[in-house]
Amino acid sequence: MKVLLVYAHPEPKSLNGSLKNFTIQHLQNAGHEVQVSDLYAMNWKAALDANDSKSRLDKTYFDASLDSQHAFKNGLQSDDIALEQSKLLWADTVIFQFPLWWFSMPAIMKGWVERVYAYGFAYGVGEHNDSHWGDRYGEGTLAGKRAMLMVTAGGWQPHYSARGINGPIDDILFPIHHGILHYPGFDVLPPFVIYHTSKVNPDSYATICEKLGQRLDTLWSTTPIAFRQQNGGDYTIPDLTLKPDIAPELTGFAAHIK
Ligand SMILES: Cc1cc2nc3c(=O)[nH]c(=O)nc-3n(C[C@H](O)[C@H](O)[C@H](O)COP(=O)(O)OP(=O)(O)OC[C@H]3O[C@@H](n4cnc5c(N)ncnc54)[C@H](O)[C@@H]3O)c2cc1C
Repeated sequence: MKVLLVYAHPEPKSLNGSLKNFTIQHLQNAGHEVQVSDLYAMNWKAALDANDSKSRLDKTYFDASLDSQHAFKNGLQSDDIALEQSKLLWADTVIFQFPLWWFSMPAIMKGWVERVYAYGFAYGVGEHNDSHWGDRYGEGTLAGKRAMLMVTAGGWQPHYSARGINGPIDDILFPIHHGILHYPGFDVLPPFVIYHTSKVNPDSYATICEKLGQRLDTLWSTTPIAFRQQNGGDYTIPDLTLKPDIAPELTGFAAHIK
């Protein structure tokens, strides 16, 4: 299998750095091919701007979406964007590894998403009509591929439990799981989360690696999160609201999971 690891941490000797090395080694030892996008090491340009296209659509006005569409369609994207897209197309599974910073991914990784997820590649894909609102949320360019988040958090596990002060981890990660991964088509696996990082020591590190190894060994058999498919009949179109008889007792994020 082919695995792409998109990784964001500025310090190679960090906990994340060790876990990245473990992950690469473990997957390679099992015979898998691995590519790594180490965003800090690559000095990845995080800000989406007019320089992302080799030739602008309209030099007097930068439109982030339309310029992206024009560049993608005409082979005018900057080389770093096109290379990352080719890695995504190559991979069977993509792991996004990062420390939880302000309840989300580090800015450098968010910038990777904003720039690599071009119009025509990750969004604006497929037909829009009365029964099919584009290829997205389980359909699209990356359909058939799997994705998993590997996240470290300073907060304790109970802080992220159903009634914990930080909010449930499934809710915090929902915008990434659903809006960034499921949107362009990925099947999204449950995340691998390490809590209370300041307490990690050689003993707990060994346990973490054992559990992580098990997750890596089962990347291809783990059941994905059961997000509802946009065009699968659960939603009205074009309102894209759940039909009244679908999980009527639920609202918010939970309603979009079967
Ligand atoms: C800007 C910012 C925002 C943040 N926002 C949040 C937030 O919203 N929610 C939240 O919960 N947390 C938050 N944090 C905390 C953050 O999530 C943690 O600091 C981070 O996940 C720790 O990962 P690390 O790789 O940097 O760990 P490190 O600091 O490198 O290491 C953590 C511990 O692991 C040990 N360790 C490292 N490598 C090994 C090894 N190989 N073997 C054994 N032990 C090892 C270290 O000794 C250390 O004690 C934030 C931190 C920052 C800087």
